[in-house]
Amino acid sequence: MKAVITTPGKQGSVHLGEIAEPSGTGTVQGADGKPAAAVEVEVVEVGVCGTDLEIANEGYGAAPAGSTVLVMGHENLGRVVSAPAGSELQKGQLVVATVRRPCPERCAPCAAGQSDDCLTGNYTERGIKGRDGYMAERYVEAEDYLIPLPGVLGKVAVLMEPSSIVEKGLIQAFTIQRTRFPWEPRQALVCGAGAIGLLAAIFLRLRDLDVTMTAKADPESRSARVAAAIGAKLLDADQHPVSGISRELGNLDIVFEATGVSSVAMAAIAATGHDGVCCLSSVTAGDRALTIDADALNLDMVLGNKLVFGTVNANRKHFEAAARMLAAANRKWPGVLEQIISRRVPAEQFQEAFQRRPDDIKTVITFAGG
Ligand code: BGC
Repeated sequence: MKAVITTPGKQGSVHLGEIAEPSGTGTVQGADGKPAAAVEVEVVEVGVCGTDLEIANEGYGAAPAGSTVLVMGHENLGRVVSAPAGSELQKGQLVVATVRRPCPERCAPCAAGQSDDCLTGNYTERGIKGRDGYMAERYVEAEDYLIPLPGVLGKVAVLMEPSSIVEKGLIQAFTIQRTRFPWEPRQALVCGAGAIGLLAAIFLRLRDLDVTMTAKADPESRSARVAAAIGAKLLDADQHPVSGISRELGNLDIVFEATGVSSVAMAAIAATGHDGVCCLSSVTAGDRALTIDADALNLDMVLGNKLVFGTVNANRKHFEAAARMLAAANRKWPGVLEQIISRRVPAEQFQEAFQRRPDDIKTVITFAGG
């Protein structure tokens, strides 16, 4: 069957190749580490994100043990082809698979079903690190890792995986903050207006916050239209750099950083207001250095009781929460989530999905199940 394959570390090696069909009647590893009956899923579509581009171009990612090649893709949407007897999944059910699998040591978070918080770093990630991904016609997986989706999500269901990342960050920010003091956040800043930034803005607006976004996006862009539709203010990052933004906006209760640029992430920490929380979500695989005013940054964090945390990946409960948030966004702003998907291309033209055009937000590769 067809699959989008790369040799991690070898730039320009992404291609459409042939791989063996998975067996829907075999076993796979379940969440408890024991063999579990496989569910067979046909792939409907797979989104492309910054991490995929880093794997393709910048040496991020790793092939499965014993292989030099990796099937790409982690932002998946599929349809069940066959499920074992006794499964809650039916043929035809739309599903999204989680990305991360537990470390072999089974550290405490991995053993508790939270491999997104893996302690050892020896986790694997489908389509990213040591495990084949979803850019193929079919895959098999244990039911433990499959999230059934309500039909109401329609085609925006391919946004589930990035939504799960955002929703994990927001759930954590709100949970931690509310254990610290009575917290009534009003003002949010989102850095970046890519898919993650826009989803963060949408989920914060659903929580009734005033949302300002900063990004290098022109006022006529697709991102600007999405921001306007949800009632978020989008500022041009060149005119309104994050380093000076708190002087313009006042106390920022929550800052969500999603630009993929580490210097902006450092500025986002500094921009966070008193009693505020800063959620860092950018995967920056480069090696850029920066000089910072460490005394001032530290003093400000201490005297302002600021909380800064990083967030990566998501587990089952975050995917389930993300499905609820996407459904709520669809109800409140019909048609807006669709605008985040700028282009869909068939697998045969997968290269086009890996090319960034000026007005792209999320490109998606469609497979036979689509
Ligand atoms: C993916 C996450 C993954 C992270 C680090 C992100 O793009 O969405 O699932 O954990 O990259 O590899």
